[in-house]
Amino acid sequence: MFVKLLPPEVRRKIAAGEVIESPADVVKELVENSLDAKATRIEVEIHKGGKRLIRVWDNGTGIHPEDVEKVILQGATSKIEKEEDLLRITTYGFRGEALHSISSVSKFVLRSRYFQEREGWEIRVEGGKLLGKEKVGMPVGTEVEVRELFYNLPVRRKFLKKEDTERKRVLELIKEYALVNPEVEFVFFAEGKQKLNLKRNPLKKRLEELFEMPFEELSEEREGIKLQAFTSRNQKQGKYYLFINSRPVYNKNLKEYLRKVFGHKTVVVLFAQMPPFMVDFNVHPKKKEVKILKERRFLELVRELAGAKREFLDIPKLSQAKATYENTYEVIGQLNDTIILVKSGEYLYFIDQHLLEERINYEKTGDEDLACRISVKAGKKLPEEKIKEMIRAWRSLENPHVCPHGRPIYYRIPLREIYEKLGRNFP
Ligand code: ADP
Ligand code: MG
Repeated sequence: MFVKLLPPEVRRKIAAGEVIESPADVVKELVENSLDAKATRIEVEIHKGGKRLIRVWDNGTGIHPEDVEKVILQGATSKIEKEEDLLRITTYGFRGEALHSISSVSKFVLRSRYFQEREGWEIRVEGGKLLGKEKVGMPVGTEVEVRELFYNLPVRRKFLKKEDTERKRVLELIKEYALVNPEVEFVFFAEGKQKLNLKRNPLKKRLEELFEMPFEELSEEREGIKLQAFTSRNQKQGKYYLFINSRPVYNKNLKEYLRKVFGHKTVVVLFAQMPPFMVDFNVHPKKKEVKILKERRFLELVRELAGAKREFLDIPKLSQAKATYENTYEVIGQLNDTIILVKSGEYLYFIDQHLLEERINYEKTGDEDLACRISVKAGKKLPEEKIKEMIRAWRSLENPHVCPHGRPIYYRIPLREIYEKLGRNFP
């Protein structure tokens, strides 16, 4: 027998690696949790670029004493209960996997005092194991300490970037959240030095404080979409930031579009608000990709706001943007008549042929059972053409990550790790 089921702690570590790859990812999740908890002051501290310590403290509502040890369980969330809730999410988190993942790959301490309680509770967790829970005196709010990130995943730890690079990423990230949350105080310490100390301010002032330049404001509201842009022209270098419903959106095509309509020497910070059902951040485990329901209309509005009347300007389709994100791929073949091997971007993918086809059919028919029945089973040799067709379809799926029942469709290994194992530099 060659196939073995991975022990739960190994599976947990692999899954954690999908959500958390760097100190900045940890900071992002913790800051989002603080914002969701209605904090008005958030302090972040890191040491050694976050590799030794990441600490986030907030004055939010805190966690109920009975829930303190539950928050590290997979799928533990207080933010959604029913599937329908997914259509009206207004919080940053909702998957209930961040604290679970972070606490699986670090030495983790969380202490929290619920706003209706007189004392706080602290839990200590190592590699996902709860070591203890005790009472602590503290102000209302929550404090999380993450030490020795990836101490139990040496390869991942080795691939963290230099301390300087990680520190810059964390700083950039906090600035982004500070931009969309000007009513919240942000304080940031790195290596014992204060790097940011932002008081609450009106948005325009917060922007000017962060960028150290004056901004002009434009706004527009139509068909349920509210746009607010701050621009600063004739800068040495253009910079483009986009936030949809208070979430930073990193999408090269969209940024390129902003550059086109606002000009290449403009710093642009664009905030878009739309009803939660019009935008789906759920397509990517890190919520970095976004799908907009009426994307063409959205882009037209952006263009009108910019005052660019160049009608020939062509509007990129956002679903194509997804393809540029890993835009080259190479089908390598089929393993054991069950797993399709593909190189895409900087990863080697092992894709389960049944789960993939099930997902494809499910997105076509909307019927889980039917999709399962008509999809190719494991153990079936597939002609090359069929594999290629499936991979093409995979790349335009709405959710290319999990099958209709929630099992991951693929497992992937960074090529960098393979090169490293072979003692080669990754090109
Ligand atoms: P999610 O944010 O997706 O719900 P997380 O794993 O990030 O999942 O957090 C799990 C739960 O822990 C949250 O739903 C929330 O109830 C609680 N929680 C986490 N961080 C905080 C915080 N800073 N303040 C209050 N509650 C928190
Ligand atoms: Mg969260």
